[in-house]
Amino acid sequence: MSAPIVEAKLEVKQASKEVKDSENVAEKYSVMTVSKNSEMNMGDLSPVVSAVPTHKPVKKQIQFVDDKQEFSRFPTKAGRRSLSRSISQSSTDSYSSAASYTDSSDDETSPRDKTQVNSKGSSDFCVKNIKQAEFGRREIEIAEQDMSALISLRKRAQSEKPLAGAKIVGCTHITAQTAVLIETLAALGAQCRWTACNIYSTQNEVAAALSETGVAVFAWKGESEDDFWWCIDRCVNTEGWQPNMILDDGGDLTHWMYKKYPNVFKKIRGIVEESVTGVHRLYQLSKAGKLCVPAMNVNDSVTKQKFDNLYCCRESILDGLKRTTDVMFGGKQVVVCGYGEVGKGCCAALKALGAIVYVTEIDPICALQACMDGFRVVKLNEVIRQVDVIITCTGNKNVVTRDQLDRMKNGSIVCNMGHSNTEIDVASLRTPELTWERVRSQVDHVIWPDGKRVILLAEGRLLNLSCSTVPTFVLSITATTQALALIELYNAPEGRYKQDVYLLPKKMDEYVASLHLATFDAHLTELTDEQAKYLGLNKNGPFKPNYYRY
Ligand code: NAD
Repeated sequence: MSAPIVEAKLEVKQASKEVKDSENVAEKYSVMTVSKNSEMNMGDLSPVVSAVPTHKPVKKQIQFVDDKQEFSRFPTKAGRRSLSRSISQSSTDSYSSAASYTDSSDDETSPRDKTQVNSKGSSDFCVKNIKQAEFGRREIEIAEQDMSALISLRKRAQSEKPLAGAKIVGCTHITAQTAVLIETLAALGAQCRWTACNIYSTQNEVAAALSETGVAVFAWKGESEDDFWWCIDRCVNTEGWQPNMILDDGGDLTHWMYKKYPNVFKKIRGIVEESVTGVHRLYQLSKAGKLCVPAMNVNDSVTKQKFDNLYCCRESILDGLKRTTDVMFGGKQVVVCGYGEVGKGCCAALKALGAIVYVTEIDPICALQACMDGFRVVKLNEVIRQVDVIITCTGNKNVVTRDQLDRMKNGSIVCNMGHSNTEIDVASLRTPELTWERVRSQVDHVIWPDGKRVILLAEGRLLNLSCSTVPTFVLSITATTQALALIELYNAPEGRYKQDVYLLPKKMDEYVASLHLATFDAHLTELTDEQAKYLGLNKNGPFKPNYYRY
């Protein structure tokens, strides 16, 4: 391998896992979108080093229900609403791209108390209302429009059925976009049973549409904690069906199986994990020598990171602010705390609308980048009295303190795009002298004794996930990555993946990107033999060493 890769191996702090890339799925289904003229090339590939990245610490551990969990027989509405802490953070962070467009609030009966049958006579599902299936189908068809890469993968691999025999249990947001993924997996030969990783995010009509086509879905919007675990259990624990692959978002399903069904868990061929929390949990298991299954960390794949952090936030920051406040940005003074990927996306969007944008940073490199991009880098205290909007994007805690909130001007907006709900000291605002007035869903006016109002969005939780939608195209990147990771793990020859956590091989990351290029009719330049030799690259990639910062 070339010298840079060796450097990359030295650079990463945790042990690197070597993955031979020579027959991976990217190779198999790749190339055609890259250029109409290029042909599939199955040979001559260099091995790729899949390095385990250093992770930001996830301070809050997932707390799982103990082994004695028994499901309540008669879930009450109150029970559905009372959430205990034993589900992961991601299961309660709302995610409103998943907003259900059908209003089923008049139906208070718990899906667990209903007997429902789809048109084929199956009752192996539990959703809010199977009759919404047709409406859900339309939602799925809309999502398909902007997920052409995944559809293209579906078409390419459909005849070969690379997932024939795969029995996948999934625990993700159940949205129209996930439905496109699930139906792709099914088209590639997998049998799927699915549950929701988030108690608020299920699109009921989509869950119904999936159940109607025979996917065993156990999920509805507004599950209680008890429902949440019951649904996971119903997915895993069923007569005559044993899962052999896991697709998880948050680690709850993985941990449930690990704890409750250790014998089934041991036979799993691979886990694909999507979230920071779930990945962290897998690394912990691996470190403790308890991970008995190969796992793929798709959270840290380059394409997913770029799209989730930079491009998605660049679009959704404005959406979230507009929907909640109807604010006009031209001429407004905005301070963005943190100029990492998320901060860069937010700043770019706000600048484009004519806002005057300030940046705060602790890191001189990011601060210098902000300067080069034309932003004033300041300390928050220097601008706190004049800004109209504060947006936190640091991944840190107490970036905006009570003292600073006290000094903000009347009508200013405070929101967070970074880590969960730690960045703004919201707890300090819950004091008797301040009045909270809920003015809209996810919008609170916090009123000081002198009448000053500060507009707090989503109670300091992630603004875009709480108040706007995530573009389907972003979710297409994730879904394609997940599908490829599942195919790769399921088809990998014995020994390619050990009982550890792997990053998606770089070549597959490149393949995910290349599949999405077709949408833009983008034409990639191909290396000549001479150029490839000069750069020391394989003509078919990977094109960058692992340490490359895109
Ligand atoms: P990043 O590490 O690239 O950027 C964070 C930046 O904040 C860094 O440059 C860091 O130096 C700076 N910083 C840290 N403490 C600071 C402080 N006290 N004041 C000013 N700057 C400070 O991370 P990122 O990829 O931009 O992600 C940031 C956060 O956003 C993470 O918590 C991540 O999980 C979250 N995130 C949110 C979304 C979303 O959809 N809203 C998407 C992806 C990631």
